[in-house]
Amino acid sequence: MLDTQEILALNAFQPQSSGSEDISPDLANLLKRRQQAYGAASVLFYQRPLHLVRGAGVFVYDTEGRQYLDFYNNVMSVGHCHPRVAQAIARQSAQLTINSRYLYDIALDYAERLLAYFPPPLTQVIFTCTGSESNDLALRIARTVTERMGVIVSHHAYHGNTTAVTEVSPASYRSGSQPPYVRTVPAPSSINYGSDIATGFANAVAEQVYSLQKSGFGLAALLVDTIFSSDGVFTDPVGFLAPAVTVIREAGGLWIADEVQPGFGRTGRMWGFERHHLVPDMVTLGKPMGNGYPIAAVVTRPDYLEKFCQITGYFNTFAGNPVAAAAGLAVLETLEAENLLEKATQIGAYLRSQLIALQKLYPQIADVRGDGLYVGVELGDPQRPAPELATCLINHLYLEKQILVGAAGPFANVLKIRPPLCLSKDHVDSFTDALAALLSRFSQ
Ligand code: PMP
Repeated sequence: MLDTQEILALNAFQPQSSGSEDISPDLANLLKRRQQAYGAASVLFYQRPLHLVRGAGVFVYDTEGRQYLDFYNNVMSVGHCHPRVAQAIARQSAQLTINSRYLYDIALDYAERLLAYFPPPLTQVIFTCTGSESNDLALRIARTVTERMGVIVSHHAYHGNTTAVTEVSPASYRSGSQPPYVRTVPAPSSINYGSDIATGFANAVAEQVYSLQKSGFGLAALLVDTIFSSDGVFTDPVGFLAPAVTVIREAGGLWIADEVQPGFGRTGRMWGFERHHLVPDMVTLGKPMGNGYPIAAVVTRPDYLEKFCQITGYFNTFAGNPVAAAAGLAVLETLEAENLLEKATQIGAYLRSQLIALQKLYPQIADVRGDGLYVGVELGDPQRPAPELATCLINHLYLEKQILVGAAGPFANVLKIRPPLCLSKDHVDSFTDALAALLSRFSQ
């Protein structure tokens, strides 16, 4: 049995690990201050943590002025410190910011513009501040609407950090297991389901629906990240979720599409669920929505919202405040003005084709998966995943080549690649050249 890795352990700084010897006195001092102030909750990336001072476009810069090509951060999705977003935030925060129980134009302008990207019956939005809050609220709505408790997620799902959402995030468990009303299904891979992933996944979901019904909890929802990022990035075949969603709906449950990772154009489509040719019952949004400003949302149907609000209602002080709305609006304007969905499609296809070319040369690459500019590169082979190689590549790409990537998957053997959407072919070439050089060296 292979050991799985908890999500916060992926590519995490370990003070005693090899490679941490060359930490400068200044960095050591910062690490000490952080450890004292944050204690056990401090988590940092890389064997030598990165001390950043600024970002612009696809680059971030450290205290020495070194430039890093960012292939990892999907929050600053339209580009680090994008002038349009930064100026919109500055302008609005100098004019008005206040809680959401007042009327102000910009939030309504934003809500209407955002909702125009959704198909009916997804016609209403509730703003929150984080992806976790969005999933927490979506679960509450689903449980109220169905009057049932059970939720099905994938084996290594991550949906956030509140009490309720941690329960449906097996990737976060350090010990113990999920509560009895949370059920998991293996990730939609050919290793798990053979050549017919859609049917295999639907059968696994049906089994858990039956089990929830038998145990008396009943089924409230299937909650999935539509790109299955923490499971290791699973995108194919196109449309594979449809039979599972049919199973859920026939059992009276709701399908919640978590778009916190793939949403806002990353896959070349506005939403990851579009790849499945389905309309979810609820959609949760976050991360790239404000290009770094904390804004998130649940998009849902009026009848669900009405039923939920009869029972409890919802108020969130900071959610959808005027500055958050300004950030969100500027992100939508930038996606459109710079044609970033089209760019994600084109540059993403080029990136994957270059990686597939590398796969032919380097057998350590087991698979290249993804859609648009969300790509997973699986290392090792399915029977023998290679997390050590992934860690080695991630740290060498950073320290030697000044390129940032991360890890994903239960065994931490999938390179997680999510550059800002304003990426060019030249940036892709820099990355694939660097990766090829390292693979060639480490395959000796
Ligand atoms: N859903 C998914 C799929 C995520 O990846 C994350 C964050 N990594 C969340 C929800 C939670 O978002 P946040 O950290 O903004 O609460």
